Amino acid sequence: MEFRLTEEQLQVEEMVRNLSRKEFAPKAAAVDEEGRYPGENHRRLADLGLLGMLYPAGYGGSEAGAVSYNIALREVAAACASTAVGMAVTNMVGETIFLHGNEAHRRKYLPMLAGGRGAGAFALTEPGAGSDAGGLSTTARAEAGAFLLNGSKAFITNGANACVAIVMAVTQKSPRKISAFLVEPATPGFLVGKPERKMGLKGSDTVSLTFEECRVPESALLGRPGDGLKIALGALDGGRIGIASQAIGIAGAALGAATEYAKERKQFGRTLGEFQAIQWMLADAATELEAAQLLVYRAAFLKERKAPHTREASMAKVFATEAGNRACLKAVQVLGGYGYVSDYPVERNLRDVKVGTIYEGTSEIQRLVISRSLLR
Ligand SMILES: Cc1cc2nc3c(=O)[nH]c(=O)nc-3n(C[C@H](O)[C@H](O)[C@H](O)COP(=O)(O)OP(=O)(O)OC[C@H]3O[C@@H](n4cnc5c(N)ncnc54)[C@H](O)[C@@H]3O)c2cc1C
Repeated sequence: MEFRLTEEQLQVEEMVRNLSRKEFAPKAAAVDEEGRYPGENHRRLADLGLLGMLYPAGYGGSEAGAVSYNIALREVAAACASTAVGMAVTNMVGETIFLHGNEAHRRKYLPMLAGGRGAGAFALTEPGAGSDAGGLSTTARAEAGAFLLNGSKAFITNGANACVAIVMAVTQKSPRKISAFLVEPATPGFLVGKPERKMGLKGSDTVSLTFEECRVPESALLGRPGDGLKIALGALDGGRIGIASQAIGIAGAALGAATEYAKERKQFGRTLGEFQAIQWMLADAATELEAAQLLVYRAAFLKERKAPHTREASMAKVFATEAGNRACLKAVQVLGGYGYVSDYPVERNLRDVKVGTIYEGTSEIQRLVISRSLLR
């Protein structure tokens, strides 16, 4: 057993940490305050090969592997969580096209996504189908060599800035079949809703999408008809490891800020760090984040070796996002009143970390996945 990152993984860590600290962190507060989509950050990620990390160079990717990818995501999230979530979904969409697309799909979309010419969107959730994703009601009706999409998707990350969206829709009512489609936003009938006003991740692009007789060619079908849910759930296995990494990045930044603050701030003639109550908060947060990181590395390691990792991804997600939430709450507590105001980043960190226990499957759904694998 090796507890060391490879040279290549260490290089990715250093490169992305430098980029994120130098270019993303200084404007993260403004991105949050203005609720501005940081398109320039997305393009910088593309410059450095960080948007196509899970497929080969022949398609514009950098094929860095799941471990390096998760390290990169964590480092970006530590600086600007809004940038990280856009990066995560773009990488997930690219990998899904690489795994399930035909050669024409790969040639068309993968260089676009890796090159930052638009983000990738993944449209599964609907107003009436969240945790129960299989209950979705968007339809795709076959007609004269095309499919006509009708229905609505909710909370779609990158929806307004996408160059392509993977859209799950019902193609057959009985027996029920869900299929996946590659849909370009310029297609007539592809309608983008107003940006959601969110608690955190205010710079990330989250919109509803509506399809009204949106006609896509037969060639827009991704994978085989009826495989849509399988494709989506497979993508989420990898995505969930990424959400765990984001939580570790965000909470790690909060813990770092709280630790520095505890060294400086004095009350009762002593620094906060001299009080055992504060020491224990920092120690508990650091320990939990370390444990979360190990779960992430294990899940990513398995994924990279193409080994089953559904349960491990759910374990990493539920533990890391909940530990991340606890760590950010502690960081705010360590800063006292200053933790509650936006002059310090921990307030934003707490708002940004929260959604980790909700999207790409809530904590309750992760526990369902884990317990099912135990009780099988
Ligand atoms: C910022 C943001 C970005 C998002 N990005 C995307 C995206 O890009 N693409 C996409 O498709 N979706 C996206 N989502 C949607 C997200 O994945 C869903 O919100 C999530 O899956 C939960 O669905 P829901 O909101 O409908 O909650 P519901 O499913 O209604 O759940 C409500 C509550 O009930 C609980 N619950 C539900 N079923 C069970 C059960 N069987 N057992 C126990 N408890 C249960 C849930 O855990 C939760 O606590 C995003 C959401 C947000 C907030």
